[in-house]
Amino acid sequence: MKLLVIGCGGVATVAIHKCCENPLFTEIMIASRTKSKCDALAEKLRGRTSAKLTTATVNADSFESLCEIMKECKPHTVLNVALPYQDLTIMDACLECGANYVDTANYEAENTDDPEWRAIYEKRCKEKGFTAYFDYSWQWAYQEKFKKAGLTALLGTGFDPGVTSVYSAYALKHYFDEIHYIDILDCNGGDHGYPFATNFNPEINLREVSANGSYWENGHWVETKPMEIKREYDFDGVGMKDMYLLHHEEIESLAKNIPNVKRIRFFMTFGQSYLTHMQCLQNVGMLGTSPVHFEGREIVPIKFLKALLPDPASLGPRTVGKTNIGCIFRGVKDGKEKSIYIYNVCDHQECYKETGSQAISYTTGVPAMIGTAMVASGTWKGPGVFNTEEFDPDPYMDALNKYGLPWQVNENPVLVD
Ligand code: NDP
Repeated sequence: MKLLVIGCGGVATVAIHKCCENPLFTEIMIASRTKSKCDALAEKLRGRTSAKLTTATVNADSFESLCEIMKECKPHTVLNVALPYQDLTIMDACLECGANYVDTANYEAENTDDPEWRAIYEKRCKEKGFTAYFDYSWQWAYQEKFKKAGLTALLGTGFDPGVTSVYSAYALKHYFDEIHYIDILDCNGGDHGYPFATNFNPEINLREVSANGSYWENGHWVETKPMEIKREYDFDGVGMKDMYLLHHEEIESLAKNIPNVKRIRFFMTFGQSYLTHMQCLQNVGMLGTSPVHFEGREIVPIKFLKALLPDPASLGPRTVGKTNIGCIFRGVKDGKEKSIYIYNVCDHQECYKETGSQAISYTTGVPAMIGTAMVASGTWKGPGVFNTEEFDPDPYMDALNKYGLPWQVNENPVLVD
């Protein structure tokens, strides 16, 4: 089966390592903006895999550039692990060239000052009640096009979204008649030793974390100020951590796909030093996404900041500690109330030894490969646009155990108030 992977950053590196372990993928083309990164990775993996590896340059912002390489490669499936800005162009190219589409993050506009985009965004903010720059409406709008083409688009197969949504489908299938409350907990207990760095693409990460929080309750969104809601939680393998409520994309799809759910929240852990740095950068305008004039040219502050911060792909050797990511579900089974926590604990250094990347890239790259394999093998099939909770969770849960993200179920978890 021929696979085209677009992007060759932190997440892509792990996803491609894992694709090379899966005999389903017999030919893999790695295409990205900077071809030298693709060449270096292909060189490292040749000899360790039976898959044929090729590389190419692509500008994923350009439909023409994408079609050119897709016509050369003729992929069965395209895994988009570039940036959310490119989701729609890549989906368009997949439709044009007859390939299935897989990604790990929903569409986000790069230029949030574009008046045409802004008008749609502001209407959505009013109608739906959350102000995040990203939402599923853009990609769900491709439903009919993918159906008509007989192709599958699988959205958001990273850890969160991705595994957290599969955990939800699994909990509903095996543990509950109805799920009423979902708390998604994302804890990174890792330490990279830098005063400030982000674990994945800094631009995407800082845009997400500095935005308003929100959660789903009784059929509508409740929005909060950034970091307004804080809780403490004692994570298995990590210990006690502060965590903060964020808006997160899987809340939107789970609210649609988990019947009778009353509340869905998402919490992420942050240390005080991270928050102080981020607040300071925000206060001085360094998180700005609009161009500013500087010495005769235009620069976008957050892009300049990205150039100064450590490359997330370089954090691997220096990050120690563990992650613990999972979902606490509360609901009813056979008329009785119950709660469970399904989660994975991942060790940064073990991920580094295996793939040269830290656990954030690892916990996203492994499910990126698994989701791609589900589509490529036809285990998950059906024309249209899907989120990961819409398919049978069992084969995906088995693959998580097989490919490095084993999960556990705690049937008596401490709840979050
Ligand atoms: P990186 O910045 O490390 O990698 C992005 C890659 O995409 C780089 O290789 C970059 O090229 C390439 N790229 C960017 N723009 C273009 C373009 N126009 N044309 C071609 N290639 C391009 O990001 P990450 O690996 O950290 O993240 C990848 C994706 O994973 C993001 O969408 C992120 O939101 C998502 N993610 C999802 C998570 C989840 O759990 N669901 C968690 C973490 C991340 P270059 O090398 O030249 O810069």
